[in-house]
Amino acid sequence: MIVGGGAAGAACAEALHEGGFGGDVLLVGREPDPPYERPPASKKYLAGAQDRDACLFHDAAWYARRSIELASRTSVMRLDTTARTATLSTKEVVQYGVALIATGANVRRLRVDGAQLEGIHYLRTLGTADAIRADAEAAERVVLVGGSYIACEVAATLTSLGKRCTMVMLEDAPLATHFGPTAGGFFGALLRERGVELVCGDGLERLEGNARVERVVTASGRELAADMVVMGTGAMPDVMLARAAKLELGETGGVACSADLATSAPGVWAAGDVCEYDSVLHDGRVRIEHHEVARAQGRAAAAAMLGTRKPYAEVPYFWTDLADWTTAEWVGITEAPEREIVRGSVADGAFSVFHLARGRVVAALSVGRGEDLAHAQRLIAARTDVGGREAALAEGDLDSL
Ligand SMILES: Cc1cc2nc3c(=O)[nH]c(=O)nc-3n(C[C@H](O)[C@H](O)[C@H](O)COP(=O)(O)OP(=O)(O)OC[C@H]3O[C@@H](n4cnc5c(N)ncnc54)[C@H](O)[C@@H]3O)c2cc1C
Repeated sequence: MIVGGGAAGAACAEALHEGGFGGDVLLVGREPDPPYERPPASKKYLAGAQDRDACLFHDAAWYARRSIELASRTSVMRLDTTARTATLSTKEVVQYGVALIATGANVRRLRVDGAQLEGIHYLRTLGTADAIRADAEAAERVVLVGGSYIACEVAATLTSLGKRCTMVMLEDAPLATHFGPTAGGFFGALLRERGVELVCGDGLERLEGNARVERVVTASGRELAADMVVMGTGAMPDVMLARAAKLELGETGGVACSADLATSAPGVWAAGDVCEYDSVLHDGRVRIEHHEVARAQGRAAAAAMLGTRKPYAEVPYFWTDLADWTTAEWVGITEAPEREIVRGSVADGAFSVFHLARGRVVAALSVGRGEDLAHAQRLIAARTDVGGREAALAEGDLDSL
């Protein structure tokens, strides 16, 4: 039984089928659509340049042909990990042999004055992207709250549709929290150049309006006119079901898992945004909210269910697109780097930034230099000590490291 029809759940179902799983697979998902990719929801789908079907991993018939029972618009309400049963929102109680918790994450809602006004949006699903696009048709001025990739991507997409966008963020620069100050400087300059107004180092105080939002007031007292607001204020792992089932939770709020993604309950695995696991790569517990990681963990959980248990050790990969302006790719894990080393030219928009900690490369960001990422991935996976050889990262032969 797979709980959650997102990237991780779908990947697990696919891998079980490909791995020759002989039993029945039930994929239970709360949303109306078959499992789909979320990334287009802030990019081409939001822009109206990609249709809904093109976001699906597969259509419903694909699952049916493989004897994967797809229960959309259905929630798992209760999990009894001793009896190995699940109670569905249809009231049906199903028996399972092994289960995957792939319940993903929910948006983090800010409780500020005016939060109930019309015209305030959060983005997580295709449905919420539809609502933003529909509202944006009549809007001229859009305020985005947050400095992370959702706010940046939506600002870029809506600016490309001719909207006047202003971003309000606590950070000194957009994307700086995850990608570091060099990348923050680059993305800040790019967004400004394309017409996005940035209000940095300032928070959301309240939202004002008469039934519908009209103004965003920041902590410093600045008033920004707004026809609509998009909140890019992060996501929280959805552990409602796991908590009720008494699965152990971890310090980042996810479902605590061993290195091979097993939860504290026998026969229950976790994958994707909800999965907090012991990373052999990062010397500690991590929880990662990236599309490719969710897919890879779904496949790893399927392999474990089929009998191949091994520590999950893939280097995390993430990408972000700001309209058709730029694409950035990232490998590794976000931590405050002790040092950043730039290769290439930030001014020319073709550069990589290697993040160093404890004498090793722990992450790297690349814009227009994808070839550097394979090296970064290798150095991260091998935990190569690059101490004293940093010059090679900046301009030498990466093969020599
Ligand atoms: C707008 C947007 C853009 C993104 N862009 C990028 C990007 O460019 N690059 C990137 O790497 N990552 C991106 N991400 C992140 C990426 O989409 C997520 O990391 C990924 O979707 C996580 O997959 P998941 O399967 O763990 O969870 P989800 O995709 O959240 O799926 C979980 C599903 O489980 C369902 N569910 C929860 N509880 C239950 C229950 N009890 N019963 C049944 N169903 C349940 C939920 O409704 C949901 O449908 C983006 C995310 C968003 C929202």
